[in-house]
Amino acid sequence: MPPEKHNIQKTNRERRSLMNQQQPIHRRRLTRAEIRRRRRNRTIRRIAGLTLVVCVAVGGVSFLLSHRKAPVPTADAAGSAASSAASSLPLAAPSSKAESSAVSGAAAESVESRDNLLGLTAAEAKAMLADPLMILVNHTNKMPENYTFETAECGSKTAVNRTLQTVACNAFLELQKAAAAENVTVWMQSGYRSVSYQTNLYEKKTNYYKQQGYDDAKAKEMAAAIVNPPGYSEHNCGLAADLNSPEHTGLDEGFENTAAFRWLCQHAGEYGFILRYPKGAEEKTEITYEPWHWRYVGVENAAKINASGLCFEDYIAALQQIAG
Ligand SMILES: [Zn+2]
Repeated sequence: MPPEKHNIQKTNRERRSLMNQQQPIHRRRLTRAEIRRRRRNRTIRRIAGLTLVVCVAVGGVSFLLSHRKAPVPTADAAGSAASSAASSLPLAAPSSKAESSAVSGAAAESVESRDNLLGLTAAEAKAMLADPLMILVNHTNKMPENYTFETAECGSKTAVNRTLQTVACNAFLELQKAAAAENVTVWMQSGYRSVSYQTNLYEKKTNYYKQQGYDDAKAKEMAAAIVNPPGYSEHNCGLAADLNSPEHTGLDEGFENTAAFRWLCQHAGEYGFILRYPKGAEEKTEITYEPWHWRYVGVENAAKINASGLCFEDYIAALQQIAG
């Protein structure tokens, strides 16, 4: 029995052992596909785990970098006026930096839009309005008391007022030289008029109408239609020049039939002068057509104004609208 028992025990042991041995065999045999599946799953789990670790690591690094590099987008955007909006945007991780700069780009675009009548940005329009050479002096815009300048002489021998602002004077002399090179003579007949000189002109004209029988108010109104009240004449700012030529010395519409006028229409802009009171703009300028009256605004401004086709009043109004 014992041997038998032993045998049985042995057999049981062996059976267990066999089962232990067989189990893997049994499992291997029965679940080969499953094993492959499990192996695949293990591999997937490992990859997923590794990916998670990598993601956490990259995320952490990104987080740290995003905080360390926070000022970078601001520094990148610095330098342009439009960037102030961009710098106030929430700062993002490097991965969304492109998106952030795209947003700041859009903001810049709206601020820097040139989608307007003059094709200028608001900043450019403001700069032009701030340019002393772009000062608007007319019936309703009195020259500011603090508008000061230096003058120089460029008038003809018969000129009534021989000076202009130095910058305009130099430009006129260049213009005159260029015209002469093409056998065209242009004279500067009346330039800068002081406010006291303007007062004298205005009073003389007012008195003339009073002598015609008009009352003081009506006489002043009629005088103002021909001579601007003191401070309201463009000649007061030293940038206006009444031009004539030996062909036509009078300051009247006859000047438009001269070679000098034709030359000026073609070239004055190249020297920074514009025709200030053009034909057809009387309603805006409130001054009758004056082919002899030219205004210095500088070469760049003259090019822009001439390209717009607008009279000076309309151009300034458009600038003010764009500048906001
Ligand atoms: Zn004039």
